Amino acid sequence: MNKNTVAIVGAGIVGVSCALELQRRGHEVTLFDRTAPGRETSYGNAGVIARSSLMPFNHPGLWSVLPRLLKNTAASFRYDPVFLARNLSWAVRFLACARASVFQETAAALDALIRLSISEHRRLLVEAQAAQRLRTNGWLFLYRSEGGFAGSRLSRETFERFGVATQVLNADDLSDLEPHLKPLFPRALWIKDTDSVDSPGQVVEAYARLFVSRGGQVRQAAIGGLGRSGTGGAWELREESGAVLEASKVVLALGPWTREFLQKSLGLSVPMAFERGYHMHYNAVGNASLGRPVYDTGGAYVLSPMAQGLRLSTGVQLAQRDAPRNLVQLELAERAAREAFPLESRLEAQAWMGSRPTLPDSRPIVGECPRHPGLWLAFGHQHIGFSTGPGTARLLASLMRGEPCDIDPLPFAPGRFLR
Ligand SMILES: Cc1cc2nc3c(=O)[nH]c(=O)nc-3n(C[C@H](O)[C@H](O)[C@H](O)COP(=O)(O)OP(=O)(O)OC[C@H]3O[C@@H](n4cnc5c(N)ncnc54)[C@H](O)[C@@H]3O)c2cc1C
Repeated sequence: MNKNTVAIVGAGIVGVSCALELQRRGHEVTLFDRTAPGRETSYGNAGVIARSSLMPFNHPGLWSVLPRLLKNTAASFRYDPVFLARNLSWAVRFLACARASVFQETAAALDALIRLSISEHRRLLVEAQAAQRLRTNGWLFLYRSEGGFAGSRLSRETFERFGVATQVLNADDLSDLEPHLKPLFPRALWIKDTDSVDSPGQVVEAYARLFVSRGGQVRQAAIGGLGRSGTGGAWELREESGAVLEASKVVLALGPWTREFLQKSLGLSVPMAFERGYHMHYNAVGNASLGRPVYDTGGAYVLSPMAQGLRLSTGVQLAQRDAPRNLVQLELAERAAREAFPLESRLEAQAWMGSRPTLPDSRPIVGECPRHPGLWLAFGHQHIGFSTGPGTARLLASLMRGEPCDIDPLPFAPGRFLR
């Protein structure tokens, strides 16, 4: 068995980025996915690569809004009570991580990962001949009232502490920047050092093509399980079709499917919840357009200009990954978005749904699996996996090769949740 071979399972942004980085460092990499690259969560996101995403959902400000969220009527957050009851220990740990000390650690860790990822995305977009998809003009947080703006104080202070470039806008400034937004927002915050793309799925596809053009292999196959092969500590991947393949190292990058896969194939349990979200594309009335993604904090949606139209994406629905859809948040988001922008009609018959895979401390797991040498993990990227796939790949490749890391790996260590 060639010691250089790596099999990566999952060809979302995380798996594809890992494939490119390990290939760049001299490994012979095969990338497996049951569909084509970039067709799942990495397809349907809002395409924002945001410095501001260093603020996890579980920050100290969560406590003051928790009673309202628990009523289960907010557009920003809904939960299935049965799912919550079955994942109560996840929920307790998630809330425990909203305390100030853990929040500080998480914000610092995510900031480092995001900064690393922004420069990597910019390099990869050029190398993959997809730079035309990149916008570097930031994104906007919109506030429907002065009170709403005042409520964002912790975020603004955190952005300042981490040097995130922002500018507070009044209604006139906002109208200069985005003239087609309706005059609904007395305040906005322009997060300036944020990039976005107009088709995250096609960016992942372009990265996968780059990997193949450099000699990498993409194999369309559903992996049903894995185990030790018996030859020199290698791993064996079992395709659902029955084929068995060997590799000296395996990287699991299955996004929201990793929890089930680890449980089924190795009996390992990870505390992951699914923050489901929906999107729908719209055209605009007349020549109305947006220059950059906007996050209407009161309306609880993001509206992003995409190649396919304006993509409206929703907040969080905590539920089993494959449970039936519940479109109430999309309907509320659409109503709110129509108040803010001249949307015309829906462009698809059915909304897209995906799951943000979230661990209790809102940090991904990146590193070697305890007690399973040669098995590497890269998953749990919650709301920011499109942004942080490329930084994750650098971190994972450095750890695998025993080379110095660009950022501190400890906040992402698998031992946080796996023993
Ligand atoms: C509504 C919404 C909006 C979002 N907006 C943003 C945003 O603006 N910016 C941002 O950074 N992030 C955003 N995110 C989060 C981001 O999309 C995810 O964190 C990221 O896509 C996760 O990438 P991944 O590669 O880990 O997983 P995925 O993209 O889900 O990839 C996992 C892959 O594993 C494959 N797979 C599963 N099981 C098997 C198997 N048995 N065998 C083989 N292959 C298998 C799947 O087919 C899939 O391709 C958003 C998410 C949602 C839901």
